[in-house]
Amino acid sequence: MNIEKAKALVEKKINELRKKTPIIEYDCKKLAEVEINKFFYDGRMIDRVMIVLRSNGCEHYKKTGGCSMCSHFNGTPINGVVTTENYIKQWDSIIGGSQFETYVDFNLNDYPVVCIYNLGSFFNENEISKEAARYIFSNLNNYKNVEKAIVESRAEYVTDDAISNIKSVYDNIIEVGIGVESTNMTIRELCHHKGIEDMSIYKKAVDTLHVHGCKALAYVVLQFDAHGDYLGEFEECLHGSVMKRINMLPNVKKIVHCGLRGNLNTGGGLRESVENGNVIILKEDLNYDAIKKILMKAIMYI
Ligand code: SF4
Repeated sequence: MNIEKAKALVEKKINELRKKTPIIEYDCKKLAEVEINKFFYDGRMIDRVMIVLRSNGCEHYKKTGGCSMCSHFNGTPINGVVTTENYIKQWDSIIGGSQFETYVDFNLNDYPVVCIYNLGSFFNENEISKEAARYIFSNLNNYKNVEKAIVESRAEYVTDDAISNIKSVYDNIIEVGIGVESTNMTIRELCHHKGIEDMSIYKKAVDTLHVHGCKALAYVVLQFDAHGDYLGEFEECLHGSVMKRINMLPNVKKIVHCGLRGNLNTGGGLRESVENGNVIILKEDLNYDAIKKILMKAIMYI
């Protein structure tokens, strides 16, 4: 079977599964999630806040069924449209505190790292308008203790125009997480259904970010059996065959253990993606034998 036929088959199967997902109505004016957890940043343990906007959803997912390991679209209002005004209202709700059901003394200045996720690509105008993105970053610029803001985007949307739109109103570090999943095209397209055959698209995105003084990080999925010495396998995975492929990424500077060892060190839970695309929180006392295969995300700064 050639790759195109195989891809069509994968896409068909993914879409069959997607059709089984129940449609949930969401309030477009309310944030999807606010999560605060420990984060290892710049040699110290800090609190970071992750703000997840209820959003229009990933276009790749809408058009093709999306990446096989992702279920973000289940959190988007399939029958609704999140407008610029909705996004602004969502952002204001966390700044003003109305997001929280009970009074919380919340101030973005308490968080050196702020993640702003939109369940898709922050730089795709079809998912979030440039006006909304600019509003969020110009407001965030008031919080000078925030050292770094992180957004996520597919590589093809990382353009001069999209970066300038927020960089021109924001003084501190902007970092963009880009899902690579695998540097092997066959794995990336057939296992992850990424829809980016050409690795040069990633290189271009990283180069564009660097030109604008932004940072890039790449997500790569590692897969392995979870029995035996789980940590040992992770290390082997990281420094063995996967490492060889990671080296194909442009200018990998640092690999961060996303989850597992890093999170164990914090004494907190582990957050990983599992095979069916759901996100679960794994606690330290987890019986690893209960889960035979785990897809582990590693983050690389490039
Ligand atoms: S991983 Fe990213 S690109 Fe893939 S379907 Fe999910 S949101 Fe879209």
